[in-house]
Amino acid sequence: METIGHWINGKLVAGTSGRFADVFNPATGDVQAQVALASPAELDAAIAAAAEAQVKWGATNPQRRARVMMEMVRLINRDMDKLAEKLSSEHGKTFPDAKGDIQRGLEVIEFCIGAPHLMKGEFTDSAGPGIDMYSLRQPLGVAAGITPFNFPAMIPLWKMGPALAAGNAFILKPSERDPSVPLMLAALLQEAGLPDGVLQVLNGDKEAVDAILDNDTVQAIGFVGSTPIAQYIYARGCANGKRVQCFGGAKNHMIIMPDADLDQAADALVGAGFGAAGERCMAISVAVPVGDATADALIEKLIPRIERLKVGPWTAGDDVDYGPVVTAAAKANILKLVESGVEQGAKLVVDGRGFSLQGYEDGFFVGPHLFDHVTPDMDIYRKEIFGPVLSTVRAQSYEEALKLAMDHEYGNGTAIYTRDGDTARDFANRINVGMIGINVPIPVPLAYHTFGGWKKSVFGDLNQHGTDAFRFYTRTKTVTARWPSGLKEGAAFNFKAMD
Ligand code: NAD
Repeated sequence: METIGHWINGKLVAGTSGRFADVFNPATGDVQAQVALASPAELDAAIAAAAEAQVKWGATNPQRRARVMMEMVRLINRDMDKLAEKLSSEHGKTFPDAKGDIQRGLEVIEFCIGAPHLMKGEFTDSAGPGIDMYSLRQPLGVAAGITPFNFPAMIPLWKMGPALAAGNAFILKPSERDPSVPLMLAALLQEAGLPDGVLQVLNGDKEAVDAILDNDTVQAIGFVGSTPIAQYIYARGCANGKRVQCFGGAKNHMIIMPDADLDQAADALVGAGFGAAGERCMAISVAVPVGDATADALIEKLIPRIERLKVGPWTAGDDVDYGPVVTAAAKANILKLVESGVEQGAKLVVDGRGFSLQGYEDGFFVGPHLFDHVTPDMDIYRKEIFGPVLSTVRAQSYEEALKLAMDHEYGNGTAIYTRDGDTARDFANRINVGMIGINVPIPVPLAYHTFGGWKKSVFGDLNQHGTDAFRFYTRTKTVTARWPSGLKEGAAFNFKAMD
């Protein structure tokens, strides 16, 4: 059985805690490796070594740090297929989708090449008589990232790219479900020229997370994962005086207006609802058609599209639409929620409950589900299912549809399908959600914009990547300087007599 350890001081090391977690092949249900779970002592030692390494790295000129990012772009592209294969084998997502996961992280590394520009401060000439005032952006020291299973390349890269480019040392605690790709990325960063110790990757569970939260050297924590854990990490990290940003769960609504192109909307819903088996924080999990005529027509278009979906292992080829979910526990939870939907009176119009794949009976595959007549009091509406289940809530007016999305506790992403610019503009202005798509189902902002939700989808300030990331991973120092006298009084050409 393969064991997966940690990346500490520039090399792969075995864990010493004696605790391990299983890493599954989600397509077969087999345990393919065991990952070491770091102890608090391992964390503390790695953090102390990172603090030492940071001193030189933080003093390295930002252009040199940017060159490491530049080389990292080349290396990720060189190893794209190798990374994607490992990613698919541990996560279960299709090969093209695994490449997309890596690509979206890579784009943030490309953005980080701009670190010298992004780190520039401000300057006021003659803020007072003979006084200049300037502000610097300096690294925080040691920062940490705690990341989820669903994007094992993208989200670690979103965290460590800006943190490292800004001159910090970084401690990454990736998801214990798919730990290999973050370790491969650490090795690539070393090959790209990152000094040993500046990036430490420690695998682990709650014990490792708590050690990060309570370590006095760690100055900032960037977390991505489910909302209850996000709230916990935010509260404990802040209580310990750290800068913390936590991105949580989602329940993204797509509103379909009667004037929308329903074929486009149905295609978008199927891709956004079932892609990656619904395990995306930007997945659309709720369709809100406006008016019964729109709803009936939409359901009619959705059913054959959903029934045609090809579910299978990533090894079955690029025409597989989605793969298994991540664990047996995730599968059980999804199916339990589907049962609750049926019991609470929603109409299950595509029933994936009996789904089984020949040769992969023990894999964590979940068939696609479509619910109609879902109401806001049902568990399938209130909770994040994080699986291939699309719920339809019928609204009778635009205002009712808008209110539904606004009243939901999550506010990560949302979309509207319409041909009417005025409706789209009103929606984008009034909705209390962080990322909005207008005839775009998954509006993930590009690397040079910033990514973040509202409401219970986020705790803390500033978004991920883009300019916000450089603000999060740096702090401002402002200098007020006056030089009362200086050499301008003139050079001395004669020897002066000693007084
Ligand atoms: P998770 O909350 O279970 O785990 C996230 C991280 O927290 C992992 O590293 C895990 O080891 C750690 N963790 C888990 N339980 C913990 C505990 N009790 N104490 C301390 N640490 C703990 O999330 P997940 O299942 O890996 O990921 C899926 C979730 O992430 C979904 O809710 C999804 O919406 C969310 N997500 C959000 C975004 C976003 O940007 N808003 C992006 C991707 C995923």
